[in-house]
Amino acid sequence: MKRLWLSLAIVLVWAWPAWCDDLSLVSPQVYNGEAAMLRWQGEPLSFGVVRYRDKVVYLYADPLGAVALLPVGLDTAAGDYPLLAALVDRQGQTRFRELVLHVEHKARPEEHLSLPKRMVSPSAEDLARINRESALLNETFTGQTPRLWTTFARPVDGPVSSVFGKRRYMNGQPKAPHGGTDFRGPQGTPVHAISNGRVALVSEMFYTGQTVVVDHGEGLYSLYAHLSKVLVEEGHTVLRGDVLGKVGSTGRSTGPHLHLTVKLLGERVDPLALLEIIKQ
Ligand SMILES: [Zn+2]
Repeated sequence: MKRLWLSLAIVLVWAWPAWCDDLSLVSPQVYNGEAAMLRWQGEPLSFGVVRYRDKVVYLYADPLGAVALLPVGLDTAAGDYPLLAALVDRQGQTRFRELVLHVEHKARPEEHLSLPKRMVSPSAEDLARINRESALLNETFTGQTPRLWTTFARPVDGPVSSVFGKRRYMNGQPKAPHGGTDFRGPQGTPVHAISNGRVALVSEMFYTGQTVVVDHGEGLYSLYAHLSKVLVEEGHTVLRGDVLGKVGSTGRSTGPHLHLTVKLLGERVDPLALLEIIKQ
């Protein structure tokens, strides 16, 4: 009998961490092109990290425990992806957790556009500009800043006119899929920051026209394109909902709308899926 109690006590001690804490995926299944959210609910961690595909993603403390956003790029194949997390508590003890992220394939609609030849087949001069701007954006997206994002809100009070991931054909030629979400709004409609952050870039660009990039920290960025007016400067701190500028049609655009791109750890993800994960 004594031995039985002893075995039971050993089992209890061994199993204790699994009972008093929890690491889970907010949704164990996501579609390609979305972001997955990993949540730790338990005692505060001194350090938490998860290995996912070829990435190492950190967990960040928040009021419930800690949280991490994992990018699931548009070209991610459907299937099960193992996650291995290492969690270090305040006493320096490390626990390991294994989880599986299930990625489903989402069929995306097609879009056929007709645009002036200059916009589809840029001149050598335009091409040089496009390359310079692309390098500037890539450099902007690699900043290492602490987390500023909390919850997310829509950037424009208007309907979605074009979803993320649409397979696009311009003047009959296949082009890169739509890398963001378009929101319809008349010229001059206020454009709001989707979450807290810092203005990392304000620039007039070939494709995206008057552009603002907000760095939300920990590899998360939002880019607001085709603005008619910019009302912030680089380095400004912004809060969720602050007005960054106004809807316009600058750059490669067929009419007034906001194009919003979201980059997470180097991958474009569906802005609407992110807004759904953490609503206001
Ligand atoms: Zn767009």
